[in-house]
Amino acid sequence: MRYYDKLIFELSVPGRSGYSLPKNRFGAAPSLPDGLKRGTGLTLPEVSEVDVVRHYTNLSQMNFGVDTGFYPLGSCTMKYNPKLNEEIASHPSFAHLHPLQPAESVQGALEVYWNMERTLSEITGMSAFTFNPCAGAHGELTGLMIMRRYHELRGDSARVKVIVPDSAHGTNPASAAVCGLEVVQVRSLENGRIDVEALKPLLDETVAGIMMTNPNTLGLFETEIREIASLVHGVGGLLYYDGANMNPLVGVVRPGDMGFDIMHLNLHKTFSTPHGGGGPGSGPVGVAKHLERCLPSPRVVRGKDGRFAVESSSEDAAGQVSGFMGNFGVILRAYAYLLMLGKENLPLVGKYSTLSANYVKEMLKDVYKLPIEGICKHEFVFDGFVNDGSRDGVEGATTLDLAKRLLDFGFHAPTIYFPLLFHQAIMIEPTETESKETLDAFIAVMRKIAAEAAEDPSILHEAPHSTPVRRPDETTAARNPVLKWKNL
Ligand SMILES: *Cc1c(COP(=O)(O)O)cnc(C)c1O
Repeated sequence: MRYYDKLIFELSVPGRSGYSLPKNRFGAAPSLPDGLKRGTGLTLPEVSEVDVVRHYTNLSQMNFGVDTGFYPLGSCTMKYNPKLNEEIASHPSFAHLHPLQPAESVQGALEVYWNMERTLSEITGMSAFTFNPCAGAHGELTGLMIMRRYHELRGDSARVKVIVPDSAHGTNPASAAVCGLEVVQVRSLENGRIDVEALKPLLDETVAGIMMTNPNTLGLFETEIREIASLVHGVGGLLYYDGANMNPLVGVVRPGDMGFDIMHLNLHKTFSTPHGGGGPGSGPVGVAKHLERCLPSPRVVRGKDGRFAVESSSEDAAGQVSGFMGNFGVILRAYAYLLMLGKENLPLVGKYSTLSANYVKEMLKDVYKLPIEGICKHEFVFDGFVNDGSRDGVEGATTLDLAKRLLDFGFHAPTIYFPLLFHQAIMIEPTETESKETLDAFIAVMRKIAAEAAEDPSILHEAPHSTPVRRPDETTAARNPVLKWKNL
């Protein structure tokens, strides 16, 4: 172990300090009530500034991010986050705003909301957006609250069911359950698309709506979407679109035109703002015209004089879902990204993300099992190795082994064991921001690992060989996590 890989507490020397504060020039501080005072001192590490800097810099170098290397994580769109976005979001005119400032003093920021709402509506075919939700799943919950509110306002209170396909992202049934709706699953066909014949008997006047994503989580386009929309609308239900990964559609196809009534976007996936590690996100929710009145408050409105204002409540709104109006810094980054690409270049996002995925798939399908043939959209799923090396007495290589071995070559692993439809699922999403050279390097490594698996799977069983942490015990880590330093 390197010296600075130690925990910060282990570097501690009693009495050492990394700061000095000026003498108190303000007299005695107001004293706290006794009940609020600590009985004992804090146990904090006592270290110098240089030790703190080295400790955290070393920790950051043990991490992997999209700025470190290729990150083909399916259903997650780890595209490059342009640095220009950061520069704009950190400009003091934006970064120092306060959410309680009078609207007159933040006209520029409100204009960003206003323009983003128009732009996203045009890209998706929706009529209006709220920017209040702070994550994709938060957007789903908000969208479902809008769905419920819509039925409620029409006195249609028997609608308690939401239909979700078996290929759905886990957050979809979870959001429906959190919203107090009953989840009904519809199965997929062999070709990975929703089974329309299985959907029909589920539809009646107790259905609030269906949650779908298109392309679905297998990266496949639901070709029967028009029929599905007319069936669901036919019984008075609504269509919810999970647009977390709208990459392949951007500038090419619009959910509104497919018949969807409500949708969310993940600005932190499709629109290039950073994500991962629980950082700030943004899950704006768009709706068709007939649902606009149910959008949560507050909303940005524009007066006849062209000035912007914040409208705080409307009787029909589906409540309020965040403190103010979402994560403005994230919305601003996404706005910068959209302006940088412009209307002319936006369709290239959809086209290149689709081209990249198909290229990687075709170059690897002789060594990795491709369960569903044909053209995919921005991502695709393999089902383990064609030849995993298993033979008499030799245990074959698994998808987990592949994921661990990739780390040795400096690539982040794809999403594994999701979707649940296949036992050895490997879900790859290259995105449009990678060069052909990077994709070729990844393909070469994936082929090398497939050859290793066929010849000697033990190399894979023991991977990763070169990372600071090898294979953690994932079961113990999940069941019995040690989340803080204990002074034993
Ligand atoms: C990422 C994702 C979500 C959830 O988004 P969060 O911001 O992580 O809450 C929902 N649906 C799909 C398809 C996703 O890929």
